[in-house]
Amino acid sequence: MTLCGMCGQEAGDRFLCPRETTRLAKQLAELPVLYDELVQCLVPRRSGFGEIVSTRGAAGPRSPLDESVLDEISTGAIGLVVHSWRVDVQRVRWPQHSPPPPGTLAADCRWLAMELDWIAANYPAAADLAREVSALERQARAVTGDPVPQRKTVGQCIAVTDDQGTVCGADITHRAGESDLRCRACHCVYAGQADLLLLLHYQP
Ligand SMILES: [Zn+2]
Ligand SMILES: [Zn+2]
Repeated sequence: MTLCGMCGQEAGDRFLCPRETTRLAKQLAELPVLYDELVQCLVPRRSGFGEIVSTRGAAGPRSPLDESVLDEISTGAIGLVVHSWRVDVQRVRWPQHSPPPPGTLAADCRWLAMELDWIAANYPAAADLAREVSALERQARAVTGDPVPQRKTVGQCIAVTDDQGTVCGADITHRAGESDLRCRACHCVYAGQADLLLLLHYQP
């Protein structure tokens, strides 16, 4: 008999009790969504919609911060932590396999969730994994708000993203409390009535 590494209750011959295993599964499912929201909270707005249109063809306005750097210091850490757990679980379970290549956070979370039953029963560091995923979730929620407000799709982005006239086309979503609309793909901002009318007018 072993005790659950998270709550200290009797866990049969497992490292995590069923309750903590279920909780971890839920957190692994939610983490990519939180991450996506976190990126939106941290990445600076690229520029106004009007600017994008008027400067197309020329070198467009750039955000003062490099997004990739920002991602790395803020949200990238989440991906690294989760991926290192995937690497370790796979190393313990299939020592003969070569380590998995870096992937997306969503893919790593999905993989861990699929192996969760094995992890809870056979992986001695299961509670450490659960604790770390919990901490990541807490940190992310501290930035995004808890619960994360729901988003509604209002239309598709009409910003031109290159000098060939390619239209972004990503879904534009809005959540209660936001004063303007922002494309999550190209970070174009639709602020004010004129932008919103244009957005409406050019919907495919
Ligand atoms: Zn437990
Ligand atoms: Zn866009």
